Amino acid sequence: MRIDTKGRFSFTGGTHPPESKTLTSESKIQSFPAVKQVAIMLSQHTGAVCRPLTRKGNTVQAGQKIGDSDAFVSAPVHSPITGKVKEITLQSHPVLGRSPAVVIDALPHYPPKRPDFKLKDDFDENSYSAEQICDAVRQAGIVGMGGAGFPTRVKIEPNPRLPKETLVINGCECEPYITCDYRIMLEWTNQIIAGIKLARRASGCSKVFVGIEDNKPQAIEAMNAALNTCADSDGIKVVPVKTKYPQGGERQLIKAILKKDVPAGGIPPMIGVVVLNVATVAVIAEAVIYDSPLTHRVVTVTGEGIANPGNFYVPIGTSVAELIEFCGGLTEEVVKVIIGGPMMGIAIADLTTPVAKTTGAVTVLTKKQIGAAKFAGRQTPCIRCGRCLEVCPEHLNPTKIAHAVKNNLLEVAENYYINACMECSCCSYVCPANIELTGYIKTGKTLLAGQKESSPG
Ligand code: SF4
Ligand code: SF4
Repeated sequence: MRIDTKGRFSFTGGTHPPESKTLTSESKIQSFPAVKQVAIMLSQHTGAVCRPLTRKGNTVQAGQKIGDSDAFVSAPVHSPITGKVKEITLQSHPVLGRSPAVVIDALPHYPPKRPDFKLKDDFDENSYSAEQICDAVRQAGIVGMGGAGFPTRVKIEPNPRLPKETLVINGCECEPYITCDYRIMLEWTNQIIAGIKLARRASGCSKVFVGIEDNKPQAIEAMNAALNTCADSDGIKVVPVKTKYPQGGERQLIKAILKKDVPAGGIPPMIGVVVLNVATVAVIAEAVIYDSPLTHRVVTVTGEGIANPGNFYVPIGTSVAELIEFCGGLTEEVVKVIIGGPMMGIAIADLTTPVAKTTGAVTVLTKKQIGAAKFAGRQTPCIRCGRCLEVCPEHLNPTKIAHAVKNNLLEVAENYYINACMECSCCSYVCPANIELTGYIKTGKTLLAGQKESSPG
């Protein structure tokens, strides 16, 4: 039977930056060689920072828990290698600037973990209770691997106040350049489906939709073919969605597939929906079936500034410098190294920054990709063309918010719903005046958060 891969659903707003995925889309997931050192950040998720469970000089085993927190919204961290704790120190963090991290020197000859998960023939999600699944997910330290890093146990576990009805699996990967989720969908298809079934069982959702952008017909076909041959896949439906950035945003995907709006400032469970990324469900399967903690992930190392781009199964905690070196180093014209992609990613200056659970890509751009005018930071006055309003997927007025922030009128920015901005960069991308609208908005959000933290009561 021919599978229709054309996407018919989407959201209003958004834009179409060059996809630039061909650099790595045919690059199979390769195992990264044994590393000499890792730095495991104690803050890799939304929620409480972990406290270290080891100290300088201790020997730790691959898979050993080395940090945890008693807070409800938190996730433990584990060592991906067998080695000796060199120190616990502050390490460069793409979002926080600095984070405490456990630095581990590998003991010689420890074997690198390989991405060779094999689904047990007798796998049956019904042999696990919801509680067992949630527990395994928590113990494995699983967080949203699509970028947000929200602890997955909190997302999937039953909550009588917010009963869950629909599970949406995010296979859009709309950010330019990145192909790690695409390769996972092609190469780990059965593992994803096992993870979906486990997440469905844990959350109690009756319906499951797998949203994939229609620029990935092979992934749509692979997922459909695997679902057609496995038992108990009724109620799991693959939905091709239109290729448009940011189609992979939670709210945008829910709108496209379910035609529902998540309330402004709200979260998907408020309308009975749970959204999980394909990489996240893949590790759920590993954690529940093999009791395996989240110690490795697939990272796309890409961009015209990288000599040999590709997709790699990497120990969490590996430095960006080591990834780049393994990929043949930088080309001459490099001007920007980004954790993530060019739209929502964060540029870093310190290449010792370690890979985190949420690091799907390292993108290295040259002056040519960034554009000469943007590179020079040349801005001109706003010409009131309205393009930024047209593309904003959250229906905000980016120019007014940016203007308020620029003039230190944070209350005004708040009244324009600055906190509803998902920082997708669509507005900055289309602005003919080169105004860094998203940059102003991010600054405004940080200043507002700081004001709230320091205000009494
Ligand atoms: S205002 Fe925020 S959500 Fe809207 S386009 Fe700009 S970055 Fe995206
Ligand atoms: S896109 Fe740029 S120039 Fe056009 S209205 Fe928005 S800020 Fe002004």
